[in-house]
Amino acid sequence: MTDNNIKTFEEAATFHGHVCPGLALGYRVGKKALEWLDANRAEDEEIVAVVENDSCAVDAIQVLTGCTYGKGNLIHKDTGKRVYTFFNRARGKGIRIVEDYVVMESPDTKALFAKSRSGAATPEEMKQFEEIRAKKIKEILSAPDDTFITAEETNEPPPAKARIFETLRCDACGEKVMAPKAVRLPGKILCRDCSEKQ
Ligand SMILES: [Zn+2]
Ligand SMILES: [Zn+2]
Repeated sequence: MTDNNIKTFEEAATFHGHVCPGLALGYRVGKKALEWLDANRAEDEEIVAVVENDSCAVDAIQVLTGCTYGKGNLIHKDTGKRVYTFFNRARGKGIRIVEDYVVMESPDTKALFAKSRSGAATPEEMKQFEEIRAKKIKEILSAPDDTFITAEETNEPPPAKARIFETLRCDACGEKVMAPKAVRLPGKILCRDCSEKQ
């Protein structure tokens, strides 16, 4: 893969809908993953990403690596950690990337951020907030990898492949539901929503 094929931060922002520090962090993680994938991927070999949070970062990772939720090669492992593991199924190899960006924020900045989130900031304070944020994003995008990213090969096995399941129909609402998610009661099959209303 050449640099020309690497999606830009702007492309990630278009997909995500806004520019934010989280997206910038994900962009850096995705870039790191690509370096490894480049060396470990032959054409059509299947890559899978396991992301341990559902933050803005994940959108940049989807754009850069092409691992997406809809294709089933983006898996959310809900630990809430800033850890991202990429596997090459054919090679049975993976890389575990830990992002540990530390932002030094003064109490003033923290107060400003809280104010802007609650909508209590004045236009002048909002401007100040945007400036600090833009600077932070710029810093993240230009910081040397080794100051906040660690990447280690892992021998952990890749997650099981996504399977295709039979589709059933809920006896209460009539909507289709994947067989393993259906709730089977005596004489009827329900979706989870309807079973909770019983
Ligand atoms: Zn965001
Ligand atoms: Zn239902």
